[in-house]
Amino acid sequence: MLQSPVDFFRELPKKICVECGQIIEEQAESYLMECDHCLSKRVE
Ligand SMILES: [Zn+2]
Repeated sequence: MLQSPVDFFRELPKKICVECGQIIEEQAESYLMECDHCLSKRVE
């Protein structure tokens, strides 16, 4: 059975931070794999 496009996008998994497992809010830098919190900890 084919899913409707709407259902397909609804079921897309949210990005999860590889460091702490927190759901990453949508952002322009889609290549990021960590949440803002972990990213900020990395910055020195
Ligand atoms: Zn994190």
